[in-house]
Amino acid sequence: MKSKLKEIFTVDPYQEMNSDSPGEVCNLLKGEWIQGTGFREDIPDPLNGEPFLKVPDTTEYSEFINSLDSCPKSGMHNPLKNVERYLMLGEVCAKSAELLREDEIEKYFCKLIQRVMPKSDSQCLGEVTVTRVFLENFSGDNVRFLARSFSNPGNHLGQESSGYRWPFGSSCIIAPFNFPLEIPVLQVLGALFMGNRPLVKVDSKVSVVFEQFLRLLIHCGLPPSDLDFINCRGQVMGELIKESKDKIRLLQFTGSKEVAEKLAVVLRGKIKIEDAGFDWKIIGPDYDPKWSEHVAWQCDEDAYNASGQKCSAQSILFMHKNWEQDLVPRLIDLASKRKLKDLDIGPVLTWTNPQMREHIDSLLKISGSKLLLGGKELTNHSIPSVYGSLEPTALQVPIGAFLTDDFKKITKEVFGPFQVVVVYTDKEIGLVKDVLEKITQNLTAAIVSNDAFFQQDLLANTVNGTTYTGMKARTTGAPQNHWFGPSGDPRSAGIGTPEAIINTWSSHREIIKDVGP
Ligand code: NAD
Repeated sequence: MKSKLKEIFTVDPYQEMNSDSPGEVCNLLKGEWIQGTGFREDIPDPLNGEPFLKVPDTTEYSEFINSLDSCPKSGMHNPLKNVERYLMLGEVCAKSAELLREDEIEKYFCKLIQRVMPKSDSQCLGEVTVTRVFLENFSGDNVRFLARSFSNPGNHLGQESSGYRWPFGSSCIIAPFNFPLEIPVLQVLGALFMGNRPLVKVDSKVSVVFEQFLRLLIHCGLPPSDLDFINCRGQVMGELIKESKDKIRLLQFTGSKEVAEKLAVVLRGKIKIEDAGFDWKIIGPDYDPKWSEHVAWQCDEDAYNASGQKCSAQSILFMHKNWEQDLVPRLIDLASKRKLKDLDIGPVLTWTNPQMREHIDSLLKISGSKLLLGGKELTNHSIPSVYGSLEPTALQVPIGAFLTDDFKKITKEVFGPFQVVVVYTDKEIGLVKDVLEKITQNLTAAIVSNDAFFQQDLLANTVNGTTYTGMKARTTGAPQNHWFGPSGDPRSAGIGTPEAIINTWSSHREIIKDVGP
């Protein structure tokens, strides 16, 4: 590593990580970096199966629980306390953004992300860019503006009521593997901006990325005692949360629906959730050949970028019959161009091949279903069998199948390069709307049509938190310039924008001054 990088970072993504001095991830506790005692043995390099990073396998967590007491329920700061911290955090963002603008630091994070979550260069760069622009957005005074309050005149002289944004205090953040930089960094900074002190846990397969970014934030002036960072198994984190459920005032969870629901019960509802996405795209009847190249390209991007491991990935595509003849061959052609060497397609980190095979086979048993593309394992690779390696795959099922007991099976999120395609006719649009009503997850959606009435009808009757509409609509999108998150659930969290931060990370407090005469 170049000397500038060595000043800040401790892990070298350019070196073989299983070399004599493997990259080692540390925990951060009460302002100190702590080396692990036991390390994870079950996380091989996703591209060649070799031993990889040293990631702590923390099982003794009592000090992390004790540390939750260090932040009072009024937070590290609030509009009436330690207000200089709003400015300090703005300054940390400004300096970090400046560093992230430097070519070698930008490349460092792209490479580090790619080593642990293999995806294409442009997908890795996208994540770094979103993070940098987010930091730029909250440079200077924009952190304090998040905590803007308002006042109303009272009933008599001396009375005035004011609404404030108040922190929760000690909180917890759990992040998944698929966006190792963007998700934890944006949520952690949002938590800090509003005055909270988080205990952070990122999926151990990729936690090195957040750990190294934390070193950059500390280098840029973030007090190291502003948060704790633990590397442990999901199950251990579950035990930690159970034991400290009265100390944790809010958990922000990003990950699967099953774990989210479990933790919601343990914490008696003190949770904000970004969970699974069974994301739908519907292509309207207004077929237009001059749009088909773009629509096909966007479908391919939405379904298969990052090997389908985006929470916003297109899980189901409702295609109007008018498009079928033109679009299906294009989808087959585009999928066939994805190559492992470019990481346009690659390892699937949470589904194995037998699991994906079983799901595909069970959907193929549905009468009238057929394989449209893919379905086979990738060849000529050294991806270890603990991870999946599937070609971009699409399976067509008839719309009638949704009226049967197979509904649940068809609408299960497969976190890999897999989508379901449904062709519908004008007469079947009511049925499509019934299916959308029954899908339990409401994260992202796309209405691909320039027909204003078609758009209006679907927008008015659905609830997805992030919905694109228009002929260029997509299901996957960059979070820092628009709200990203589910809707239709009082526990929904958001990420990226001022509204997302304010909604997720602060609550309303009203102070009524009544001083006479
Ligand atoms: P997961 O729920 O298994 O893991 C997510 C995180 O939770 C990891 O850090 C994991 O270690 C931790 N965890 C697991 N069990 C736990 C427990 N019992 N207690 C506490 N923590 C625990 O999810 P995954 O399968 O690895 O991630 C993919 C899922 O995440 C998909 O369903 C995807 O749609 C979803 N996701 C959603 C968003 C969003 O913004 N809505 C973003 C990214 C991913």
